[in-house]
Amino acid sequence: MKEIKILYLYPDILELYGDFGNIQVLRYRLEKRGIKATIVPYSIGDATPNFNDYDIVFAGGGADQEQSILAKDLLQYRENIKEAIDNGVFFLLICGAYQLFGKYYKGVEENIIPGLEIFNYYTEAINDRKKRCIGNIVINVNLDGNETKVIGFENHGGQTFDIKTPFGDVLLGNGNKFGDNKEGFFQKNVIATYLHGPLLSKNPELADYIIKYCLDRKYNENTVLEPLNDEFENKCREQLLNEFLNN
Ligand code: GLN
Repeated sequence: MKEIKILYLYPDILELYGDFGNIQVLRYRLEKRGIKATIVPYSIGDATPNFNDYDIVFAGGGADQEQSILAKDLLQYRENIKEAIDNGVFFLLICGAYQLFGKYYKGVEENIIPGLEIFNYYTEAINDRKKRCIGNIVINVNLDGNETKVIGFENHGGQTFDIKTPFGDVLLGNGNKFGDNKEGFFQKNVIATYLHGPLLSKNPELADYIIKYCLDRKYNENTVLEPLNDEFENKCREQLLNEFLNN
């Protein structure tokens, strides 16, 4: 039986806005296809993980305080994480986690939380708790040549700068900062985005894009995924896109 191993970072700390749902969607879409989904949680105090041992590394969103709690612990793995990214391990990073893979995150109280500096972007929150990017968001994304609308929900004070390869073009919402027309960060095996939702529950095509990438890489083949019955997901998407983009 084929297997996809997922390292789930700080599930007890980066658990804002139901991002755990992304793990549930990946597990569902793998197991429905007879592929074993092995989910390994890691948090502060657990045994040191080797990021190369996994196919996917996932980390969700968190408030400023939670980010500062885990930053020191995360930084110790910088070299191993960089090596895993260079080796093609897929990283799915949501909001607070997205921010911590850049140079730094300056919180709403102007406290600097050092980032992994894996990528050159940086994030600074406006020092006014009321000024946050909050609301439904739709972005246009190109996944291996296929354009698709990705639906989510954003809630971040952080404004992210210096993104050279964004995840998508904003059709509704803010994106990387107030009024930005770009959202997130994207490179072959890294999707870092502000989209909560949970992201993958509203975007089955994106979930399958990640699954296919991982199977192709691990089993050295051009995987043709067995289609799943996404009738319910697609009806929800149709209704949401109509409401968000046509009203
Ligand atoms: N604390 C960060 C911010 O406010 C990240 C928030 C989040 O993960 N939703 O920008």
